[in-house]
Amino acid sequence: MTRTNLSDIISCLSGYDPDAMSVTQARQVINDFVPPLATFEKLAIRSALDRVLAQDIVSGINVPANDNSAMDGYALRGDDLPASGERTLPVVATIHAGQHYAHNVSAGTCVRIMTGAVMPDGCDTVIPQELTHAATDGAVTIPAGAVKTGDNRRRAGEDLRTGQTALRRGKILRPADIGMLASLGVAEVAVQRRLRVAFFSTGDELRSVGEVLTPGCVYDSNRYTLYGMLKRLGCEMLDMGVINDDPAALEAAFRRAAEDADAVITSGGVSVGAADYTKQIMQQLGDMSFWKIGMRPGRPMAFGRIASGDKEAYLFGLPGNPVAVMISFYFIVRDALLHMMGAEQAPLPRLQVVSRSAIRKRPGRTEYQRGILSADDDGIWRVRLTGEQGSGILRSMSDANCIVVLNDDQGNVASGDLVQVVLFDGLV
Ligand code: AMP
Ligand code: MG
Repeated sequence: MTRTNLSDIISCLSGYDPDAMSVTQARQVINDFVPPLATFEKLAIRSALDRVLAQDIVSGINVPANDNSAMDGYALRGDDLPASGERTLPVVATIHAGQHYAHNVSAGTCVRIMTGAVMPDGCDTVIPQELTHAATDGAVTIPAGAVKTGDNRRRAGEDLRTGQTALRRGKILRPADIGMLASLGVAEVAVQRRLRVAFFSTGDELRSVGEVLTPGCVYDSNRYTLYGMLKRLGCEMLDMGVINDDPAALEAAFRRAAEDADAVITSGGVSVGAADYTKQIMQQLGDMSFWKIGMRPGRPMAFGRIASGDKEAYLFGLPGNPVAVMISFYFIVRDALLHMMGAEQAPLPRLQVVSRSAIRKRPGRTEYQRGILSADDDGIWRVRLTGEQGSGILRSMSDANCIVVLNDDQGNVASGDLVQVVLFDGLV
Protein backbone atom coordinates (compact mmCIF):
# COMPACT_ATOMS: atom_id res chain seq x y z
CA MET A 1 0.00 0.00 0.00
CA THR A 2 1.28 3.43 -0.82
CA ARG A 3 1.58 5.64 2.20
CA THR A 4 0.23 9.11 2.12
CA ASN A 5 1.74 11.81 4.26
CA LEU A 6 -0.41 14.36 5.93
CA SER A 7 1.54 17.08 4.13
CA ASP A 8 0.62 15.55 0.73
CA ILE A 9 -3.06 15.82 1.57
CA ILE A 10 -2.71 19.28 3.01
CA SER A 11 -0.81 20.51 -0.06
CA CYS A 12 -3.93 19.79 -2.14
CA LEU A 13 -5.94 22.28 -0.08
CA SER A 14 -6.22 25.73 -1.49
CA GLY A 15 -5.37 28.43 1.01
CA TYR A 16 -4.27 26.09 3.81
CA ASP A 17 -3.62 27.97 7.01
CA PRO A 18 -3.26 25.83 10.13
CA ASP A 19 -4.19 28.87 12.20
CA ALA A 20 -7.45 29.44 10.29
CA MET A 21 -8.93 26.12 9.22
CA SER A 22 -12.61 25.86 8.55
CA VAL A 23 -14.51 22.92 10.03
CA THR A 24 -15.15 21.70 6.48
CA GLN A 25 -11.45 21.79 5.58
CA ALA A 26 -10.44 19.99 8.76
CA ARG A 27 -13.04 17.29 8.17
CA GLN A 28 -11.88 16.87 4.59
CA VAL A 29 -8.18 16.51 5.46
CA ILE A 30 -8.98 13.99 8.16
CA ASN A 31 -11.34 12.01 5.95
CA ASP A 32 -8.75 11.84 3.16
CA PHE A 33 -6.03 10.72 5.56
CA VAL A 34 -7.70 8.00 7.63
CA PRO A 35 -8.19 4.62 5.91
CA PRO A 36 -11.05 2.20 6.51
CA LEU A 37 -10.28 -1.02 8.36
CA ALA A 38 -9.86 -4.07 6.18
CA THR A 39 -10.53 -6.83 8.70
CA PHE A 40 -13.86 -8.62 8.92
CA GLU A 41 -15.57 -11.17 11.11
CA LYS A 42 -18.61 -13.37 10.59
CA LEU A 43 -21.41 -12.89 13.09
CA ALA A 44 -24.88 -14.28 13.69
CA ILE A 45 -27.33 -11.61 12.58
CA ARG A 46 -28.47 -10.66 16.09
CA SER A 47 -24.88 -10.05 17.15
CA ALA A 48 -24.44 -7.95 14.02
CA LEU A 49 -26.88 -5.30 15.27
CA ASP A 50 -25.19 -1.85 15.20
CA ARG A 51 -22.16 -3.27 13.41
CA VAL A 52 -20.91 -2.21 9.98
CA LEU A 53 -21.81 -4.63 7.20
CA ALA A 54 -18.71 -5.72 5.27
CA GLN A 55 -20.42 -7.39 2.29
CA ASP A 56 -23.25 -6.65 -0.11
CA ILE A 57 -26.25 -8.85 0.66
CA VAL A 58 -27.98 -10.14 -2.47
CA SER A 59 -31.35 -11.75 -2.07
CA GLY A 60 -31.36 -15.46 -2.92
CA ILE A 61 -35.15 -15.64 -2.88
CA ASN A 62 -38.25 -13.65 -3.70
CA VAL A 63 -39.76 -12.00 -0.62
CA PRO A 64 -42.59 -12.82 -0.37
CA ALA A 65 -42.05 -16.07 -2.19
CA ASN A 66 -45.64 -16.18 -3.57
CA ASP A 67 -48.48 -13.85 -4.33
CA ASN A 68 -50.49 -13.73 -1.12
CA SER A 69 -53.40 -12.05 0.56
CA ALA A 70 -52.90 -8.77 2.41
CA MET A 71 -56.19 -9.16 4.31
CA ASP A 72 -58.52 -11.65 5.95
CA GLY A 73 -61.36 -11.90 3.47
CA TYR A 74 -62.37 -13.58 0.23
CA ALA A 75 -60.20 -14.23 -2.82
CA LEU A 76 -61.96 -14.05 -6.17
CA ARG A 77 -61.62 -13.07 -9.79
CA GLY A 78 -61.83 -9.36 -10.49
CA ASP A 79 -64.10 -10.21 -13.41
CA ASP A 80 -66.68 -11.48 -10.91
CA LEU A 81 -66.93 -8.17 -9.02
CA PRO A 82 -70.44 -6.73 -9.52
CA ALA A 83 -70.62 -3.55 -11.62
CA SER A 84 -73.63 -2.39 -9.64
CA GLY A 85 -75.76 -3.61 -6.74
CA GLU A 86 -74.30 -6.72 -5.14
CA ARG A 87 -73.49 -10.30 -5.94
CA THR A 88 -73.48 -13.46 -3.88
CA LEU A 89 -70.73 -15.99 -4.60
CA PRO A 90 -70.39 -19.54 -3.26
CA VAL A 91 -67.35 -20.05 -0.99
CA VAL A 92 -65.64 -23.25 -2.15
CA ALA A 93 -62.81 -23.49 0.40
CA THR A 94 -60.93 -21.80 3.27
CA ILE A 95 -57.17 -21.17 2.97
CA HIS A 96 -55.13 -20.41 6.08
CA ALA A 97 -51.67 -18.80 6.06
CA GLY A 98 -49.05 -21.43 5.36
CA GLN A 99 -51.47 -23.65 3.45
CA HIS A 100 -51.30 -24.31 -0.24
CA TYR A 101 -54.61 -24.67 -2.12
CA ALA A 102 -53.92 -26.90 -5.06
CA HIS A 103 -57.09 -26.26 -7.08
CA ASN A 104 -58.04 -23.62 -9.56
CA VAL A 105 -60.84 -21.38 -8.30
CA SER A 106 -63.36 -21.33 -11.09
CA ALA A 107 -65.26 -18.30 -12.33
CA GLY A 108 -68.28 -17.35 -10.26
CA THR A 109 -66.88 -18.79 -7.02
CA CYS A 110 -64.54 -17.56 -4.29
CA VAL A 111 -62.49 -18.84 -1.35
CA ARG A 112 -62.20 -17.58 2.19
CA ILE A 113 -58.55 -16.54 2.69
CA MET A 114 -56.45 -15.41 5.65
CA THR A 115 -53.73 -12.74 5.63
CA GLY A 116 -50.49 -14.15 4.25
CA ALA A 117 -52.09 -17.20 2.64
CA VAL A 118 -50.93 -17.94 -0.92
CA MET A 119 -53.34 -16.65 -3.57
CA PRO A 120 -54.97 -19.65 -5.23
CA ASP A 121 -54.81 -20.08 -9.02
CA GLY A 122 -57.57 -18.21 -10.76
CA CYS A 123 -57.88 -15.45 -8.14
CA ASP A 124 -56.39 -11.99 -8.52
CA THR A 125 -58.29 -9.92 -5.93
CA VAL A 126 -59.13 -10.05 -2.22
CA ILE A 127 -62.13 -8.36 -0.67
CA PRO A 128 -61.65 -7.78 3.06
CA GLN A 129 -64.15 -9.58 5.25
CA GLU A 130 -65.49 -6.34 6.75
CA LEU A 131 -66.52 -5.07 3.30
CA THR A 132 -68.70 -8.11 2.64
CA HIS A 133 -72.07 -8.73 4.20
CA ALA A 134 -74.84 -11.20 4.70
CA ALA A 135 -72.39 -14.06 4.40
CA THR A 136 -74.23 -17.29 5.08
CA ASP A 137 -72.52 -20.63 5.47
CA GLY A 138 -71.04 -21.39 2.08
CA ALA A 139 -71.78 -18.05 0.41
CA VAL A 140 -70.76 -14.39 0.69
CA THR A 141 -72.36 -11.20 -0.62
CA ILE A 142 -70.13 -8.61 -2.26
CA PRO A 143 -71.26 -5.02 -2.85
CA ALA A 144 -70.26 -3.13 -5.99
CA GLY A 145 -67.40 -0.63 -5.71
CA ALA A 146 -65.89 -2.06 -2.50
CA VAL A 147 -62.65 -3.17 -4.19
CA LYS A 148 -61.18 -3.19 -7.67
CA THR A 149 -59.32 -5.91 -9.54
CA GLY A 150 -55.90 -6.62 -7.98
CA ASP A 151 -56.66 -5.06 -4.59
CA ASN A 152 -55.21 -6.60 -1.42
CA ARG A 153 -52.98 -8.96 -3.33
CA ARG A 154 -49.30 -8.84 -2.37
CA ARG A 155 -47.07 -9.74 -5.28
CA ALA A 156 -44.27 -12.31 -5.05
CA GLY A 157 -40.97 -10.44 -4.78
CA GLU A 158 -42.57 -7.06 -4.09
CA ASP A 159 -40.44 -6.71 -0.97
CA LEU A 160 -37.27 -8.11 -2.58
CA ARG A 161 -36.67 -9.96 -5.83
CA THR A 162 -34.17 -12.76 -6.28
CA GLY A 163 -30.82 -11.24 -7.27
CA GLN A 164 -31.65 -7.80 -5.93
CA THR A 165 -29.15 -6.13 -3.56
CA ALA A 166 -30.89 -5.96 -0.22
CA LEU A 167 -28.16 -4.25 1.81
CA ARG A 168 -24.91 -2.62 0.80
CA ARG A 169 -21.58 -2.97 2.56
CA GLY A 170 -20.91 -0.05 4.82
CA LYS A 171 -24.39 -0.01 6.25
CA ILE A 172 -24.69 0.12 10.02
CA LEU A 173 -27.17 -2.63 10.76
CA ARG A 174 -30.34 -1.45 12.44
CA PRO A 175 -33.31 -3.48 13.70
CA ALA A 176 -35.04 -3.37 10.30
CA ASP A 177 -31.85 -4.62 8.63
CA ILE A 178 -31.39 -7.67 10.81
CA GLY A 179 -35.10 -8.37 10.36
CA MET A 180 -34.67 -8.19 6.60
CA LEU A 181 -31.66 -10.50 6.75
CA ALA A 182 -33.83 -12.97 8.63
CA SER A 183 -36.57 -12.59 5.99
CA LEU A 184 -33.99 -13.67 3.41
CA GLY A 185 -33.01 -16.68 5.48
CA VAL A 186 -29.53 -15.28 6.08
CA ALA A 187 -28.11 -16.50 9.42
CA GLU A 188 -24.66 -14.90 9.42
CA VAL A 189 -23.06 -11.87 7.85
CA ALA A 190 -19.57 -10.43 7.52
CA VAL A 191 -19.09 -7.25 9.53
CA GLN A 192 -16.10 -4.99 10.01
CA ARG A 193 -14.13 -5.76 13.10
CA ARG A 194 -14.60 -3.21 15.84
CA LEU A 195 -12.45 -0.12 15.78
CA ARG A 196 -10.12 -0.03 18.76
CA VAL A 197 -9.78 3.42 20.26
CA ALA A 198 -7.42 4.38 23.08
CA PHE A 199 -7.97 7.55 25.04
CA PHE A 200 -6.39 9.45 27.87
CA SER A 201 -6.51 12.84 29.52
CA THR A 202 -3.56 15.12 30.04
CA GLY A 203 -3.20 17.80 32.66
CA ASP A 204 -1.56 17.88 36.07
CA GLU A 205 -4.72 19.39 37.56
CA LEU A 206 -6.82 16.31 36.79
CA ARG A 207 -7.93 13.80 39.37
CA SER A 208 -9.72 10.58 38.58
CA VAL A 209 -13.01 9.62 40.18
CA GLY A 210 -12.20 7.94 43.50
CA GLU A 211 -9.23 10.20 44.22
CA VAL A 212 -9.28 13.08 46.70
CA LEU A 213 -9.89 16.45 45.06
CA THR A 214 -7.00 18.60 46.31
CA PRO A 215 -7.11 22.43 45.95
CA GLY A 216 -6.74 23.61 42.36
CA CYS A 217 -7.73 20.25 40.92
CA VAL A 218 -10.76 19.09 38.91
CA TYR A 219 -12.17 15.68 38.32
CA ASP A 220 -11.46 14.28 34.87
CA SER A 221 -14.81 14.13 33.10
CA ASN A 222 -13.52 13.86 29.54
CA ARG A 223 -12.71 10.19 29.86
CA TYR A 224 -16.32 9.58 30.77
CA THR A 225 -17.91 11.57 27.97
CA LEU A 226 -15.44 9.97 25.56
CA TYR A 227 -16.29 6.55 26.92
CA GLY A 228 -19.99 7.22 26.35
CA MET A 229 -19.57 8.60 22.85
CA LEU A 230 -17.22 5.82 21.75
CA LYS A 231 -19.42 3.15 23.26
CA ARG A 232 -22.41 4.51 21.34
CA LEU A 233 -20.38 4.32 18.13
CA GLY A 234 -19.62 0.68 18.84
CA CYS A 235 -15.87 1.06 19.39
CA GLU A 236 -13.66 -1.13 21.51
CA MET A 237 -12.00 1.06 24.09
CA LEU A 238 -8.74 1.31 25.93
CA ASP A 239 -9.04 3.84 28.78
CA MET A 240 -5.49 4.83 29.65
CA GLY A 241 -6.38 7.17 32.50
CA VAL A 242 -4.81 10.53 33.28
CA ILE A 243 -1.27 11.06 32.07
CA ASN A 244 0.71 13.71 33.87
CA ASP A 245 2.70 16.40 32.16
CA ASP A 246 5.89 14.41 32.18
CA PRO A 247 7.72 13.71 28.91
CA ALA A 248 8.57 10.10 29.73
CA ALA A 249 5.03 9.28 30.87
CA LEU A 250 3.51 10.97 27.82
CA GLU A 251 5.84 9.22 25.40
CA ALA A 252 5.11 5.85 27.00
CA ALA A 253 1.36 6.52 26.77
CA PHE A 254 1.45 7.57 23.12
CA ARG A 255 3.62 4.58 22.23
CA ARG A 256 1.34 2.15 23.99
CA ALA A 257 -1.68 3.69 22.27
CA ALA A 258 0.00 3.45 18.85
CA GLU A 259 0.80 -0.21 19.54
CA ASP A 260 -2.60 -1.23 20.88
CA ALA A 261 -5.19 0.87 19.05
CA ASP A 262 -6.34 2.03 15.62
CA ALA A 263 -7.08 5.54 16.85
CA VAL A 264 -6.10 7.59 19.88
CA ILE A 265 -8.06 10.44 21.37
CA THR A 266 -6.46 12.71 23.93
CA SER A 267 -7.83 15.76 25.66
CA GLY A 268 -5.93 18.75 26.92
CA GLY A 269 -2.53 20.18 26.19
CA VAL A 270 -3.09 21.37 22.62
CA SER A 271 -4.16 24.96 23.36
CA VAL A 272 -1.98 27.90 22.43
CA GLY A 273 -0.93 28.58 25.98
CA ALA A 274 -0.33 24.97 26.83
CA ALA A 275 3.02 24.83 28.57
CA ASP A 276 3.05 21.06 28.64
CA TYR A 277 4.92 18.47 26.64
CA THR A 278 1.91 16.94 24.92
CA LYS A 279 2.34 18.64 21.54
CA GLN A 280 6.09 18.10 21.58
CA ILE A 281 5.78 14.35 22.13
CA MET A 282 3.01 14.00 19.54
CA GLN A 283 5.30 15.66 17.01
CA GLN A 284 8.25 13.45 17.91
CA LEU A 285 6.25 10.28 17.41
CA GLY A 286 4.43 11.09 14.24
CA ASP A 287 3.19 12.93 11.25
CA MET A 288 1.14 15.62 12.96
CA SER A 289 -0.56 18.91 12.26
CA PHE A 290 -1.69 21.42 14.85
CA TRP A 291 -4.69 23.47 13.90
CA LYS A 292 -6.76 26.34 15.06
CA ILE A 293 -10.17 25.59 13.67
CA GLY A 294 -12.80 28.24 13.02
CA MET A 295 -15.23 26.74 15.48
CA ARG A 296 -16.56 27.46 18.92
CA PRO A 297 -16.20 25.69 21.20
CA GLY A 298 -13.23 23.55 20.24
CA ARG A 299 -10.71 25.71 18.46
CA PRO A 300 -7.34 23.99 18.94
CA MET A 301 -6.88 20.48 17.66
CA ALA A 302 -4.00 18.17 16.81
CA PHE A 303 -4.41 15.57 14.12
CA GLY A 304 -2.11 13.04 12.52
CA ARG A 305 -0.60 9.59 12.78
CA ILE A 306 1.78 8.41 15.44
CA ALA A 307 3.96 5.32 15.33
CA SER A 308 5.79 3.05 17.72
CA GLY A 309 7.94 0.39 16.10
CA ASP A 310 5.93 -0.90 13.16
CA LYS A 311 2.55 -0.08 14.77
CA GLU A 312 0.67 3.11 14.25
CA ALA A 313 -2.54 4.87 15.13
CA TYR A 314 -4.42 7.96 14.03
CA LEU A 315 -4.34 10.63 16.67
CA PHE A 316 -6.98 13.20 17.52
CA GLY A 317 -5.68 15.64 20.11
CA LEU A 318 -8.71 17.51 21.41
CA PRO A 319 -8.77 20.55 23.63
CA GLY A 320 -9.31 20.04 27.34
CA ASN A 321 -12.56 21.86 27.96
CA PRO A 322 -15.34 19.33 28.51
CA VAL A 323 -17.84 20.81 26.04
CA ALA A 324 -15.11 21.43 23.47
CA VAL A 325 -14.23 17.72 23.68
CA MET A 326 -17.79 16.67 22.97
CA ILE A 327 -18.36 19.15 20.16
CA SER A 328 -15.04 18.34 18.47
CA PHE A 329 -15.86 14.68 18.81
CA TYR A 330 -19.35 14.92 17.33
CA PHE A 331 -18.60 17.32 14.52
CA ILE A 332 -15.07 16.27 13.51
CA VAL A 333 -13.90 13.00 15.05
CA ARG A 334 -17.13 11.01 14.81
CA ASP A 335 -17.26 10.94 11.02
CA ALA A 336 -13.56 10.11 10.85
CA LEU A 337 -14.07 7.10 13.14
CA LEU A 338 -17.09 5.99 11.14
CA HIS A 339 -14.96 6.21 8.00
CA MET A 340 -12.29 4.06 9.69
CA MET A 341 -15.03 1.63 10.68
CA GLY A 342 -15.92 1.30 7.00
CA ALA A 343 -19.34 2.84 7.51
CA GLU A 344 -20.99 4.63 4.60
CA GLN A 345 -23.02 7.17 6.48
CA ALA A 346 -25.33 9.85 5.25
CA PRO A 347 -24.62 13.16 6.98
CA LEU A 348 -26.49 13.67 10.24
CA PRO A 349 -29.85 15.29 9.50
CA ARG A 350 -30.06 18.99 10.28
CA LEU A 351 -33.51 20.36 10.93
CA GLN A 352 -34.55 23.94 10.46
CA VAL A 353 -36.47 25.17 13.47
CA VAL A 354 -37.48 28.50 14.95
CA SER A 355 -35.11 30.02 17.48
CA ARG A 356 -36.76 31.28 20.66
CA SER A 357 -33.50 32.98 21.61
CA ALA A 358 -31.65 35.89 20.09
CA ILE A 359 -28.12 34.59 19.56
CA ARG A 360 -24.98 36.65 19.12
CA LYS A 361 -22.88 35.12 16.38
CA ARG A 362 -19.73 36.31 14.68
CA PRO A 363 -19.47 35.40 10.98
CA GLY A 364 -16.33 33.50 9.98
CA ARG A 365 -16.56 30.52 12.29
CA THR A 366 -18.97 27.72 13.05
CA GLU A 367 -20.62 27.95 16.44
CA TYR A 368 -22.26 25.07 18.22
CA GLN A 369 -24.71 26.05 20.92
CA ARG A 370 -26.54 23.75 23.27
CA GLY A 371 -30.28 23.84 22.71
CA ILE A 372 -33.55 22.50 24.02
CA LEU A 373 -36.00 21.75 21.26
CA SER A 374 -39.68 21.53 22.11
CA ALA A 375 -43.05 21.91 20.41
CA ASP A 376 -45.65 24.54 21.22
CA ASP A 377 -49.42 24.23 21.15
CA ASP A 378 -49.36 25.50 17.54
CA GLY A 379 -47.39 22.35 16.65
CA ILE A 380 -44.25 24.30 15.69
CA TRP A 381 -40.91 23.10 17.04
CA ARG A 382 -38.79 25.83 18.56
CA VAL A 383 -35.36 25.79 20.15
CA ARG A 384 -33.98 27.80 23.03
CA LEU A 385 -30.42 27.85 24.26
CA THR A 386 -29.61 26.13 27.54
CA GLY A 387 -28.20 29.32 29.00
CA GLU A 388 -24.55 29.80 29.83
CA GLN A 389 -22.62 28.45 26.82
CA GLY A 390 -19.08 28.43 28.22
CA SER A 391 -16.99 25.56 26.86
CA GLY A 392 -16.27 24.30 30.35
CA ILE A 393 -19.92 24.00 31.34
CA LEU A 394 -20.79 20.37 30.83
CA ARG A 395 -24.18 20.87 32.44
CA SER A 396 -25.25 22.74 29.28
CA MET A 397 -24.67 19.54 27.29
CA SER A 398 -26.52 17.47 29.84
CA ASP A 399 -29.54 19.82 29.78
CA ALA A 400 -29.62 19.99 25.98
CA ASN A 401 -31.42 17.68 23.57
CA CYS A 402 -29.86 19.17 20.43
CA ILE A 403 -27.03 21.28 19.11
CA VAL A 404 -27.80 24.52 17.31
CA VAL A 405 -25.31 24.76 14.44
CA LEU A 406 -24.56 28.27 13.23
CA ASN A 407 -22.51 28.03 10.05
CA ASP A 408 -19.51 30.18 9.13
CA ASP A 409 -21.42 32.76 7.13
CA GLN A 410 -24.21 33.16 9.70
CA GLY A 411 -24.41 36.43 11.66
CA ASN A 412 -26.55 37.33 14.66
CA VAL A 413 -29.79 35.41 15.06
CA ALA A 414 -32.96 37.24 16.06
CA SER A 415 -35.64 35.53 18.08
CA GLY A 416 -38.04 33.99 15.55
CA ASP A 417 -35.34 33.34 12.92
CA LEU A 418 -34.80 29.84 11.56
CA VAL A 419 -31.71 27.97 12.74
CA GLN A 420 -30.32 24.49 12.11
CA VAL A 421 -30.27 21.86 14.82
CA VAL A 422 -28.80 18.38 15.10
CA LEU A 423 -30.75 16.15 17.45
CA PHE A 424 -29.10 14.08 20.17
CA ASP A 425 -31.51 11.14 20.04
CA GLY A 426 -33.16 9.27 17.24
CA LEU A 427 -35.69 6.48 16.89
CA VAL A 428 -33.37 3.64 15.94
P1 AMP B 1 -6.35 22.65 28.27
O1 AMP B 1 -6.89 22.44 26.90
O2 AMP B 1 -5.43 21.54 28.70
O3 AMP B 1 -5.74 24.01 28.40
O4 AMP B 1 -7.59 22.60 29.27
C1 AMP B 1 -8.61 23.58 29.19
C2 AMP B 1 -9.51 23.48 30.40
O5 AMP B 1 -10.17 22.22 30.42
C3 AMP B 1 -8.80 23.59 31.75
O6 AMP B 1 -9.63 24.34 32.61
C4 AMP B 1 -8.73 22.18 32.23
O7 AMP B 1 -8.70 22.07 33.62
C5 AMP B 1 -9.99 21.57 31.67
N1 AMP B 1 -9.79 20.14 31.44
C6 AMP B 1 -8.76 19.61 30.74
N2 AMP B 1 -8.89 18.27 30.70
C7 AMP B 1 -10.00 17.97 31.41
C8 AMP B 1 -10.63 16.75 31.75
N3 AMP B 1 -10.14 15.59 31.32
N4 AMP B 1 -11.77 16.79 32.48
C9 AMP B 1 -12.28 17.98 32.90
N5 AMP B 1 -11.71 19.16 32.61
C10 AMP B 1 -10.57 19.16 31.88
MG1 MG C 1 -4.08 21.17 30.20
